[in-house]
Amino acid sequence: MTSSVLMPTYAPPTVTFVRGEGTVLWDDGGKRYLDFLSGLAVTSLGHAHPLVADALSAQARTLWHVSNLFGNALAPEVAATLDRLLGGGGRVFFANSGAEANECALKLARKWGGRGRYVVVSAYGSFHGRTLATLHATGQPQKHEAFQPLPEGFRHAAWDDIEDLARMIDPSVVGVLLEPVQGEGGVRAPSPEYLAAVRRLCDERGMLMIMDEVQTGLGRTGRWFGFEHFGVRPDVVTLAKALGNGMPIGACWARADVADAFAPGDHATTFGGQPLATSAARAVLAVMEEENVPALAAAAGARLRSALEATPGISGVRGLGLLLAAELEEGEAKRAQARLLEVGLVVNAVTDTALRLAPSLLVSDAEIDEAVAMIATVLAEGRGES
Ligand code: PLP
Repeated sequence: MTSSVLMPTYAPPTVTFVRGEGTVLWDDGGKRYLDFLSGLAVTSLGHAHPLVADALSAQARTLWHVSNLFGNALAPEVAATLDRLLGGGGRVFFANSGAEANECALKLARKWGGRGRYVVVSAYGSFHGRTLATLHATGQPQKHEAFQPLPEGFRHAAWDDIEDLARMIDPSVVGVLLEPVQGEGGVRAPSPEYLAAVRRLCDERGMLMIMDEVQTGLGRTGRWFGFEHFGVRPDVVTLAKALGNGMPIGACWARADVADAFAPGDHATTFGGQPLATSAARAVLAVMEEENVPALAAAAGARLRSALEATPGISGVRGLGLLLAAELEEGEAKRAQARLLEVGLVVNAVTDTALRLAPSLLVSDAEIDEAVAMIATVLAEGRGES
């Protein structure tokens, strides 16, 4: 089968991976790569983590799926763990992806707000998904154009600019949807006081503070959740990517009094919360708690950051924990991404000038050193030094 039978939504791939273990991937020719992208911040425990694989295979021999018309033993347990990690007092809806977790948050905000309160303000540069509503929430107008008209009820404010955000608020606004660190937008953390100011604005104007933790959540930034770096507590939190370590699962958590705006029949999904996906999530969360993975990510992130900062050709490093971007010279990022793939390192050019690095949170010191050595070599080549 050739890739031409797939819809052309991605550029034709140059590499086909067939196996992974921890931070290492192998392609169909047997070549080894270090994976410093993790399927875009998904395989946070590395590829084929044995405890997650065991949990999945045991569940695959027990029960895959029942309709949400019936109970299953796993979803309430995973929901309770997420609620505890998020500080308690909330309820969870399980979905299958980040976009769907955000769709749940958007619908919940509208139901909670009542008629006439339906607008959600998000930030320019944000990314919230590719469904029509989450595409409109995504603050990248160039991605909107071909799909107009998009669902009503979205506005965008400049990122990290509380005054611009305040200007967008009128009585129709029910919530503010933000990533704690913009991931797809270039790995951009806000200034330290921004999210606290957003929290105050939401409290003053009776709006929900909705944090999209799809990319940042579950240890990626060196804490359980990105918002913890900023001393705020949101009303609604969305998760996906790392929750299943590659098994598709998303979650929308909300404060119980907000979640209770939903009644039976208001929202639903065939697959969300099914046993196979929640067995993976239960194992992921157990490993993360057992090994204190957020703390490991903080330590590994500090090592990776300082090694990158000391690398010639890198003018700056931004981000938190193990969600980092290395700023290169103009136009260098695409070349470096392609060349690094050739030499066996998977990263991505998150902008024209920056490489995003998001390895497994269990990455070893030796793997960090090996990856940074490859980056140093490739950047030196770019300067004609090899
Ligand atoms: N929100 C954020 C912050 C993301 O980074 C992404 C994906 O990159 C999404 C939402 C969409 O998630 P999915 O692709 O699982 O729908």
